[in-house]
Amino acid sequence: MTKKIWAQLSERLEKIVGKNSFQTWIKPLNFISYEDGLLELTVTTRFQGDWVSRNYGDEIKGQAMRLGLKIDRIEFKIKDNQISLTEPEKSLPQVPTKVQTLSNKNTLGASLDSRFTFERFVVGKPNELAHAAARRVSTGDSAAFNPLFLYGGVGLGKTHLMHAISVELQHMSPDLKVVYLSAEQFMYRFIQALRDKQMMNFKEIFRSVDVLMVDDVQFIAGKESTQDEFFHTFNALIDQKKQIVISADRAPGEIDGLEERIRSRLQCGLVVDLHPTDYELRLGILQEKVQNYRLKYTDLDIANGVLEFLAHKITTNVRVLEGALTRLFAFSSLVGRQITLDMAQESLADILRASDRKVTMDEIMKKICHYYNVRMSDLLSPRRSRNIARPRQMAMYLSKNMTSRSYPEIGKQFGNRDHTTVMHAVKKIEELKSQDSQVSDDAELLRRMLEA
Ligand code: ADP
Ligand code: MG
Repeated sequence: MTKKIWAQLSERLEKIVGKNSFQTWIKPLNFISYEDGLLELTVTTRFQGDWVSRNYGDEIKGQAMRLGLKIDRIEFKIKDNQISLTEPEKSLPQVPTKVQTLSNKNTLGASLDSRFTFERFVVGKPNELAHAAARRVSTGDSAAFNPLFLYGGVGLGKTHLMHAISVELQHMSPDLKVVYLSAEQFMYRFIQALRDKQMMNFKEIFRSVDVLMVDDVQFIAGKESTQDEFFHTFNALIDQKKQIVISADRAPGEIDGLEERIRSRLQCGLVVDLHPTDYELRLGILQEKVQNYRLKYTDLDIANGVLEFLAHKITTNVRVLEGALTRLFAFSSLVGRQITLDMAQESLADILRASDRKVTMDEIMKKICHYYNVRMSDLLSPRRSRNIARPRQMAMYLSKNMTSRSYPEIGKQFGNRDHTTVMHAVKKIEELKSQDSQVSDDAELLRRMLEA
């Protein structure tokens, strides 16, 4: 095949897949080479390649056949001079200065992690609400849920769900302009537009999307002009009844440095949280990963009890859990033997050690009482004298930092205090730590004792 034949072939494909899909998926592909049944094409993103091969691979092969060419395999090379909204920050300086490039639909909807689909999202009690809400939004019929605000600790699946919504929407309605980006990327785009005097363009582009998803919105807390622009974009889209999905690592009310008007707008849709995983969910996720891995590598052999062991031991975050499993896969393929409990314990020693101790608020409070020689009832009481208030603040600070409890949950444990009291306490200790070596020593020592 030559470039010319590829052009012929794409012409045929256009008739088959339709103009819209053709523009979105086939047209951006560029011919690289054809040899020994292997066709190589460029794509903008890995996601685009996966999509094309899944949805149009057979058509491409079929049409080639009609032109007298046999294609056994299609491979996609990522074109690196393309920009994408979701590229990591470090590649931003190379981005072309014209913000117009953003309006190219491929670059907008692309760059999603192809593993992050609903099919591969394991649902359990801790995430069922968030999952259901995301599902609902992904049907495109969601006027009631605008904005959808997803929050929860690191590695609990926020990004996964947002990508899944995006993939699903694009699949159902390829003409929909779905934009997914992190708040950080939003800020960089904004700064870049300011610098290049492309603000009109920037505004136009972001106001013309059908669905806007902004991940990790806590990032723009305290960044005033970015927040301002975000607020205007947000309002313009909501007014047009366009769907917005936002994620953050905590509830809108807990994001310090977020303007009140944004906070209240974020709260006016549906706010759902992803709770820390429980044992069943972790086991489910591990089983899903193993099953998926087996599709590719059939000889994977895991002894009974290994997954249960991991689900029991690694409780912090799903990313760590996945990392552990990946390491086991790599080990077993290297040494070519069964993954046993011994092997898991040995090869994951560092991860297991880090996850070994899970501190509870109860332990923290007891330790604080002992360390500062105060009574538990004092910690819970409304008393505000310094010799009690300081230990209480320290306990709140440690609770926030060493457990996955939220501000309101911590407040509740400390004699039903308001979450703003806890926020204040955390901030206070953080301030003191940098000014008062006694406080920073105390904090460090307590942390070590609790981790031991
Ligand atoms: P967050 O954005 O909340 O920090 P991510 O969405 O990046 O977390 O998830 C971290 C990793 O854990 C990803 O690889 C994701 O696929 C996986 N993961 C999290 N929750 C689930 C789940 N319920 N089912 C399957 N995989 C999950
Ligand atoms: Mg994330």
